[in-house]
Amino acid sequence: MTQQAKGQFINVGVIGAGGRMGRMLIEAVQDNPQTSLSAAIERQGSSLVGADAGEVAAIGRLGIQVVDDLSAVIDDIDVLIDFSLPDATEQNMQICAEHQVAMVIGTTGFSTQQEQVLFEASKHTAIVYAGNYSTGVNLSLKLLNMAAKAFGTDADVEVIEAHHKHKIDAPSGTAYMMAEAVAEARGQHLKDVANYGREGQTGARETGTIGIHAIRGGEIIGDHTVMFIADGEVVEITHRARARMTFAAGAVRAATWIIQQQAGQYNMQDVLGLNE
Ligand code: NAP
Repeated sequence: MTQQAKGQFINVGVIGAGGRMGRMLIEAVQDNPQTSLSAAIERQGSSLVGADAGEVAAIGRLGIQVVDDLSAVIDDIDVLIDFSLPDATEQNMQICAEHQVAMVIGTTGFSTQQEQVLFEASKHTAIVYAGNYSTGVNLSLKLLNMAAKAFGTDADVEVIEAHHKHKIDAPSGTAYMMAEAVAEARGQHLKDVANYGREGQTGARETGTIGIHAIRGGEIIGDHTVMFIADGEVVEITHRARARMTFAAGAVRAATWIIQQQAGQYNMQDVLGLNE
């Protein structure tokens, strides 16, 4: 790709460039005909600083050096894609808000205070924030909404997720989204009805609660099952991610969409038109 041709593309910066998702994102940005990598950022002290981003992602030299300071490259970026850590994303949201640079955030495990920072940042710039960028999961959310409305609290709902052993937060952002989709469709607040794991003398299951369970092991990319357990029948809605590229390609699709939106907070269902 020539530098001249690059001018027609949406310039994308990737945070956490050396991470499992970061490497996929660099490849996905270069694969998408509308986007081009313009910056790759890692944490201060990372051994990857100064390396070529394309070589980090194993797709060949791109002529973009990994840097450790977002502020130094912010003017080169139209959309920042951030799949890193909550504390890093918190700082990045503030920088993007200040410079009115759009964001696609995949980082999970935000605290309530960090969600507030997101809310404030989205008053100044357009942000997609999704616990899962795959088309299949977002379609599953729609199906969960339908199932929850049909069963109401006649079915006991249990959410079970499984991820690789390196994951540092639980339950997954996607499990929350799925449980929230059920709660919302039943007119509940998740915080009032969630039951995380079970141990000891739990007593009988309370009607209307939503059980949420996390399995960790091996290299599982991300499996989610929601069970609707009614008298005489069980419906299970399952999604299994087979490759991280599904999230990366979805995030890049979100980047091409968010660039055209007004300041505000959006999710992947908005990107896919599932909320219309
Ligand atoms: P990972 O492999 O640990 O990658 C995180 C990367 O961020 C690492 O390279 C890390 O560098 C880097 N980093 C840490 N602090 C930084 C900073 N201040 N500035 C820039 N980079 C920084 O984790 P992952 O599996 O890619 O997942 C990353 C996040 O995405 C997690 O929250 C995960 O749950 C989420 N995720 C979301 C989706 C979705 O669809 N929404 C899908 C998959 C994953 P060091 O390793 O050097 O510390």
